[in-house]
Amino acid sequence: MAATQQRRRLTVGGLVQGVGFRPFVSRLAARHGLAGSVSNGPEGVVIELEGSASALAAFEDELRPLAPPLAALATVTAVDEPPQGLEGFRILPSRTAGPAAARVPPDVATCEACLRELHDPGDRRHRYPFLNCTDCGPRWTIIEALPYDRPATVMRDFALCPACRAEYDNSADRRYHAQPVACPACGPRAWLLDAEGRPQCSDDPLAAAAELLAQGAIVALKGIGGFHLACDAADGAAVARLRQRKRRPDKPFALMVRDLEWAAALAELTDRERGLLAGWRRPILLCQPRLPLPLAPAVLGSSASIGIMLCYSPLHQLLLEGPRPVLVMTSGNRADEPLATDNHEALARLGGIADAFLLHDRPIAHAADDSVTRLSRGRPVLLRRGRGYVPQPVPLAAEGPAVLALGADLKSACCLTRAGLAFPGPCLGDLGNPDAAAQLERSARHLVRLLGAAPALLIHDLHPDFVSTRLAERLAAEWGLPLLALQHHHAHALSVLAEHGLRGPALAICLDGTGLGTDGHIWGGELLLVDGLHCRRLAHLSELPLPGGDRAAAEPWRMALAALLAAGEGAEVLPPAWQELPPFHAAPPQRVEAVLRLARQPEACPPCSSAGRHFDAAASMLGLRQTLSYEGQAAAELEDAAATSTATECYPFVWKLPAAEGPEVADTAPLFAALAEDARRGARGDAARRFHNTLVEIVCQAAQRARRAHGLGTVALSGGCFQNRLLIEGCTTALEAVGFQVLSPEQVSPNDEGISLGQAWAGLLSLKATWDHASAGEKSRR
Ligand SMILES: [Zn+2]
Ligand SMILES: [Zn+2]
Repeated sequence: MAATQQRRRLTVGGLVQGVGFRPFVSRLAARHGLAGSVSNGPEGVVIELEGSASALAAFEDELRPLAPPLAALATVTAVDEPPQGLEGFRILPSRTAGPAAARVPPDVATCEACLRELHDPGDRRHRYPFLNCTDCGPRWTIIEALPYDRPATVMRDFALCPACRAEYDNSADRRYHAQPVACPACGPRAWLLDAEGRPQCSDDPLAAAAELLAQGAIVALKGIGGFHLACDAADGAAVARLRQRKRRPDKPFALMVRDLEWAAALAELTDRERGLLAGWRRPILLCQPRLPLPLAPAVLGSSASIGIMLCYSPLHQLLLEGPRPVLVMTSGNRADEPLATDNHEALARLGGIADAFLLHDRPIAHAADDSVTRLSRGRPVLLRRGRGYVPQPVPLAAEGPAVLALGADLKSACCLTRAGLAFPGPCLGDLGNPDAAAQLERSARHLVRLLGAAPALLIHDLHPDFVSTRLAERLAAEWGLPLLALQHHHAHALSVLAEHGLRGPALAICLDGTGLGTDGHIWGGELLLVDGLHCRRLAHLSELPLPGGDRAAAEPWRMALAALLAAGEGAEVLPPAWQELPPFHAAPPQRVEAVLRLARQPEACPPCSSAGRHFDAAASMLGLRQTLSYEGQAAAELEDAAATSTATECYPFVWKLPAAEGPEVADTAPLFAALAEDARRGARGDAARRFHNTLVEIVCQAAQRARRAHGLGTVALSGGCFQNRLLIEGCTTALEAVGFQVLSPEQVSPNDEGISLGQAWAGLLSLKATWDHASAGEKSRR
């Protein structure tokens, strides 16, 4: 008998911790009569097996296909060892030594089995807002260190009761080693406070909160990755109060709905969209509303699309099963502040907004806002990366030392590489806020600690005044590390190449709001040739003066005046008909005159080739938006207007070729002259559509000119303007029609939160040459 025994050690890498993988291995080994053990180690899951050759083969055959739904097996390596006559199969305690290459799972929405218990009056977890199991529950937001075991999570202070302990220890139980396992006897609890923070007596704080919501109250509630502000989406007065108190006049509110039926009642959903909504990641999905909505119109603000998500925690589920099936569920912050995650912080920062606070005592280790996604040409595009996606890594096309990238300032996020994987952190918002800057630092330090990485290099934006740049400088000094500055749009381009496993050479179209160029000008309407660390600017949109600098980015009428001056080709007096256009009436005549004077002085205004500012100018001329209340608002409203038209023609524009070496310029002065005429005639939708068509045509012509000169057939699209569905779909279709391979952002956002991935990829490439050289030397010495 012993002669036929074989022993084999399997090491499994990938998303295999915290997803019920070890109990699955134990059951599979038992089914095939195999002895041995399974353990979580820093390198992944290690399985020791002893048994017949046929049983070992059957086990290996079934390991991947039968693995739990949340597990993602990246690598399985096998080593044969001499058999030792093992008996039985054991699940061993986790080991902590060595590098932490194992992956941390994202947070997972409540599973069906847990929902049944939540609704079962006979179950000991009936209506318990923190129930979970190995198939569901919080993960990233509760983990403080690896390997993923209860003492390394925020659950360490909740001692298991005998009943929970029995489930936790029983390998046949659904809650075997589910680290956040809890029940009303031993786990976290929720409570309700009034606006002043005074405890409200209630046996069932969830039912009491649901009742308050039904009466029109705004409730601040602590969820999985941070606080939400909630109110009844059908209550116009409540929605108006929330808008006023949150200082958010126009930006659409996300909605949480009771179930898929309610989602389908509010939006026209395709099967793919239903799948995205109901999947375990539970993002906010931007989709087409089913009009007229049975909701307060102010919910959508000035947007033509609707953002919906399903409940993803038992706490949300219980609230939505109250009297109101659709709740506004917006991030728990005030204006541009970061998301509140802790009870005291929420009481301090959301006081004055919320009428009541639904709190709990399970700490949030790391903030993670709700993710936002949308389908484009049938594929999901991640617009904001947060809960359910963080910290899922992006595989890179090369390995190398760890590098840490600090991103950009407006939509900040950091990114750390480790063993051929890039780990983009959650989006943390605008670093103009000191709390957000502190959060970015915590997020960066946490990624480094959690992944056990020792970065060899820090990468930051070229802009010397960015808060993220200064943080990189400070961390580099503290850790004694070198720094690399990378141009903003070069990083945008590399972020798309990185997620498609490429380093270039490729063409990249980068359309966004603002990024400092290598010539000191503001860029944002760029065609680049990118090959790893090499980047050449081949073409750009014509430069407009920014009258008033940063104020021009917040007041589109300033950009419209600058564009009209360009369209008037420096004429002393603009045509009288143009002077009747909306931007001339957006401010008192003296201010309009002052801005016109300013825009005529090139030395007084930073030049800017930004596509975002082109969008602003067009939106202002058409009378859509003169002052922004949130970033990207004018462009979003121009897109909504364009979607009402089927116009196919373009406005004129002219290619200006450089005298010597230098980029080509798409001169948009004729575009704005023609747009002004359409605006005068009041053809708003058609004009907005023609503006989009023209940008698509410029992009397509620029890429073809570059292909003729450089012979490259791949184009990467990136930058915040590509959140615009008409633009990204129009450019993709047009470029593919003339034979280009088009790469677009999928796993990270096209806007600035995606930049850190491109920076990290550049950092890795810059170290790779020296690293390859060193390891080759190492091998030859052996
Ligand atoms: Zn579950
Ligand atoms: Zn318990």
